[in-house]
Amino acid sequence: MTADLRELYQEIIIDHGRHPRHKGFLPDANHHKVGFNPLCGDKIFLHILEKEGVIEKIRFEGSGCAISIASASLMSEALQGKTINDAKEFFHAFHQLVTEGKQSEILGKLAVLGGVREFPARVKCATLSWHTLQAALTQDVKLVTTEE
Ligand code: ZN
Repeated sequence: MTADLRELYQEIIIDHGRHPRHKGFLPDANHHKVGFNPLCGDKIFLHILEKEGVIEKIRFEGSGCAISIASASLMSEALQGKTINDAKEFFHAFHQLVTEGKQSEILGKLAVLGGVREFPARVKCATLSWHTLQAALTQDVKLVTTEE
C-alpha cells in the first residue's frame, strides 16, 4: 500500500469515527442486538428493519474507539438496501480482509479497515459490529414469544 493510500484510508476512518453515518435509534426495527468488546470497551447497539430478506434500514447506537464506530458506520452504509444473503457475503469478505489481508471487490470503501490486520487487538474492534449484525439477523425479535 502506498503512503498516500494509507493516509486516505486513515482519513476515512477518522471521518466515520467522528461523524458516524446511520447513527441513532430505529423505532420500526424488527431486529435489535447489542454487541460488546470488553478488551477495548466498545459497545454497539444495532437496529435493523428487515422486510422479506432485505435490510431496508439499519441504524446503530453505542460508544467505543474510532475503529469500532467507523466500522459500524461503514458497515451500515454498505448494507442498507442489501439482502441478508449479500450481508453474509460482505461479512465473509470483511472477515477475510481483516484476518488474512485478502482484498475483495465487493467491499468497496470497507477496504479502508484492512490495516487493522497489523494490530490483532484492533481486529476485534473492527469486527464487533459485524458479529453483532450476524447475531441480530439470526435472532428475530418476533420469535421471542411463547405463543402465536
Ligand atoms: Zn475498540
